[in-house]
Amino acid sequence: MESSKIKVFVDFDGTISLLDVGREIFYTFGNKEKAEEIVSQFQNGIITSRQCWDLLIKNLNYFNHQKLIELIDNIPIDQTFKDFVQFCKNNHIEIFILSDGFDFYIERILNRENLKDIPFYANSLKVEGEKLLISFPYFNPDYPHSSNPKMIHIIDNSSDEDFTIYIGDGNSDKEAAQYCDLIFAKDNLLKHCEKNRISFYPFKNFLDIKEQISKLLSKKRLRKSYQAFLKRKLAYEAE
Ligand SMILES: [Mg+2]
Repeated sequence: MESSKIKVFVDFDGTISLLDVGREIFYTFGNKEKAEEIVSQFQNGIITSRQCWDLLIKNLNYFNHQKLIELIDNIPIDQTFKDFVQFCKNNHIEIFILSDGFDFYIERILNRENLKDIPFYANSLKVEGEKLLISFPYFNPDYPHSSNPKMIHIIDNSSDEDFTIYIGDGNSDKEAAQYCDLIFAKDNLLKHCEKNRISFYPFKNFLDIKEQISKLLSKKRLRKSYQAFLKRKLAYEAE
């Protein structure tokens, strides 16, 4: 099959990084108990992602640039991801990172791991003196539940003929994953897929994903998801 048309969209926090970096930042510099309560409200669907980040930034007690850098530099990534990136390169599969977290640490971690070639879409976090500033360049009022609607990046970066794959673990992946032909899920995303009878492959790390995609590559034709096709169609019509 024509492998140049396979596109992989992958979440960052908890999927590539082993911890949710965005939350760790706010747990470190804010009142942790209160921050955890805010995150749990988000996880239970009481507040939106954007409301969650706005509340977390209001909950900051102090901020220190050097400490932020140390925190980020100590966040491990799933080491099987690097091998997966190489596998994708070898097979002309494009990867895009879609994140509900922030560019500041994604860029720094990708640089550290020699993965800076991977394009990513994320919210913005800037340090100005002793202040932390966040903004949402991709926020779209048509998708108010998301601070960075991942499905928009999926649609913008793939055609209807491409075979799209989604890899994720959490709340911000639930809707977006359904715009892809194949879903790899763990943790909250896995539970969501099970509960809503959305077909998916479970995964523990990127070796599992590599194995499944290798099987796909040996097939003559890939079966695209009709559900994903319908989702894309509705999105085009809404434009
Ligand atoms: Mg995640």
